[in-house]
Amino acid sequence: MKLIMLGAPGAGKGTQAARVAEALQIPHISTGDIFRANIKNGTELGKKAKAYMDQGKLVPDELTCDLVADRIAKDDCSGGFILDGFPRTIPQAEALDKVLTERGEKIDFAVNIDVPDEAIVSRMSGRRACVGCGATYHIEFNPPKKEGICDNCGAELILREDDKPETVATRLKVYHEQTQPLIDFYEKKGALVTVDGTLPMDEVYKAILGKLGK
Ligand code: ADP
Ligand code: ADP
Ligand code: ZN
Repeated sequence: MKLIMLGAPGAGKGTQAARVAEALQIPHISTGDIFRANIKNGTELGKKAKAYMDQGKLVPDELTCDLVADRIAKDDCSGGFILDGFPRTIPQAEALDKVLTERGEKIDFAVNIDVPDEAIVSRMSGRRACVGCGATYHIEFNPPKKEGICDNCGAELILREDDKPETVATRLKVYHEQTQPLIDFYEKKGALVTVDGTLPMDEVYKAILGKLGK
């Protein structure tokens, strides 16, 4: 199954994508994680991407589309994949379409996790990310067993620089201007499913599996 996750920053895309990927045994591909790994490793791509990410802006499509095309061409994606955080613009969605159409494939479902802006700022200020494995926690809604330490890998948990309220406001604006139009794009293709992202995590998860017919 080929899936994409849509939703505002902090809607719960990463949280749900990780669970669905495990349930369906398909790779979870997060462009945000790929960029952060590049920043950590000091690559050229990482240096370029960081400047945009720190400001809450999107990394340009030229730096993003080829990277995803290469990733989904890998063997582990032959049985499907979940894209988390891509596409984020109409040109990115068109580029993805082109790559898939050339292979006689298509996106089966675009899962839209619907959360109003009012709920986003508190979600983001409570989010903690693992510097080791990228796992995500929330100090109130999904705390780690030991404060500040990742359950999976034991590394440190941090508040992402771009999760501070000033940057979150910019990211929400960017979301509404550039990413929200994708809801219509996938609706027209008949691929859109929407779930209420304000529900507790387990309920959001069950709703998604239900919509996928699983
Ligand atoms: P969130 O989990 O809040 O949705 P991500 O981890 O997906 O955030 O993305 C963090 C940042 O990485 C974005 O604000 C943006 O700067 C950059 N980024 C991630 N994916 C893309 C993309 N598809 N196109 C452009 N920029 C991206
Ligand atoms: P995204 O990938 O869309 O930016 P995340 O999955 O990282 O979103 O979730 C953002 C924050 O909100 C994280 O701290 C996560 O633990 C928390 N979160 C995710 N889903 C829910 C939910 N249904 N209810 C409350 N908090 C949630
Ligand atoms: Zn970890």
